[in-house]
Amino acid sequence: MNNFSYQRAATLSDVVGKSTFVAGGTNLLDLMKYNLSNADTLIDVNALTDFHAIEEVPDGLRLGSLATNADTAYDSLVENRYPLLSKAILAGASAQIRNMATNGGNLLQRTRCYYFYDAHAPCNKRVPGSGCSAIKGYNRNMAILGTSDQCIAVYPSDMSVALSALDAVVNVSGLNGERSIAFEDFHRLPGDTPEIDNNLQPGELITSIDLPEKTFTKNYSYLKLRDRSSYAFALISVASALELEGDTIQEARIALGGVAHKPWRVKEAEQYLTGKKTDRQNFAAAADIILQGAVGFEHNAFKIELAKRAIIRNCIMALDPSTQLPGAQPSA
Ligand SMILES: Cc1cc2nc3c(=O)[nH]c(=O)nc-3n(C[C@H](O)[C@H](O)[C@H](O)COP(=O)(O)OP(=O)(O)OC[C@H]3O[C@@H](n4cnc5c(N)ncnc54)[C@H](O)[C@@H]3O)c2cc1C
Ligand code: SF4
Repeated sequence: MNNFSYQRAATLSDVVGKSTFVAGGTNLLDLMKYNLSNADTLIDVNALTDFHAIEEVPDGLRLGSLATNADTAYDSLVENRYPLLSKAILAGASAQIRNMATNGGNLLQRTRCYYFYDAHAPCNKRVPGSGCSAIKGYNRNMAILGTSDQCIAVYPSDMSVALSALDAVVNVSGLNGERSIAFEDFHRLPGDTPEIDNNLQPGELITSIDLPEKTFTKNYSYLKLRDRSSYAFALISVASALELEGDTIQEARIALGGVAHKPWRVKEAEQYLTGKKTDRQNFAAAADIILQGAVGFEHNAFKIELAKRAIIRNCIMALDPSTQLPGAQPSA
């Protein structure tokens, strides 16, 4: 780790246009210890009190970027109105990490690709142009959708999978003022520039995340499949939210984690389900649409079938959310 100076920002104008921000520090400090981030100045943004609140806004709910993951998941407005989000957050990390981790930091956490953390391995995300060790290396945890010949890493956040399904909007502030980014446009696929994870501009601060009015409180489920039942990143995760009239689907949202460089949502599959009955065959057909174009590598081809089963299973669990036991992670 390099030497660095530490500043505690008091106002928004102290931070916009600058870098590197530290919030909970649960990802950034690890990156610094591995020399993957060599910031010479850390700007602690935690004293910016305007961005800690979770509050109702005319069209929904606003989550402060500096609210912790724990405070967000257990906030009564989130628990009652966006239970899918609460469940997804609680499926991530550990209680201790969620007490420190913030909502803004969660969105910006970096990949867990083993080669990214290994300074001796070629990695286009760490050193552009150096090559990708995962494509022909050990790639069990890697992506099956949206990959490029430059990078096959996955984006690891659980919270973001639910935010994607809920059509959240990310509010940011930078030197050019404020702007709002639709969640589907926030993270990006690797393409030829895998070193860039998202569409945030340098020096922009995430100030809040907006959840629209539509809450899906009756029929929702988050399923996370992983190698051990806690404290592990997803092999596959699925957020499902359904609006039903009897056994007919009025609206469906399905987002996947653990499969791509961003949360994966295919709107054609959701449109396919609209007006259909809530049966296994229809969920299976939607899963096939979502997984069109999926490509497995030597050690992760199993993820394609696992993802299909997880989508079907999770949509069935969404029909009766009480089938999701707290902490239970049924196998697909
Ligand atoms: C052992 C372990 C297990 C984990 N397991 C999971 C898991 O299963 N699922 C999961 O989803 N996550 C998991 N995590 C990741 C954890 O959720 C993230 O580390 C955490 O959410 C990051 O938030 P933070 O506030 O600590 O971010 P920081 O580490 O402070 O910052 C992360 C990045 O975001 C930037 N940043 C922070 N806030 C802002 C802002 N407001 N605006 C602009 N830039 C900002 C920082 O500059 C930095 O680049 C795990 C982490 C660990 C260490
Ligand atoms: S998959 Fe991406 S992050 Fe992993 S080694 Fe290849 S380029 Fe690096």
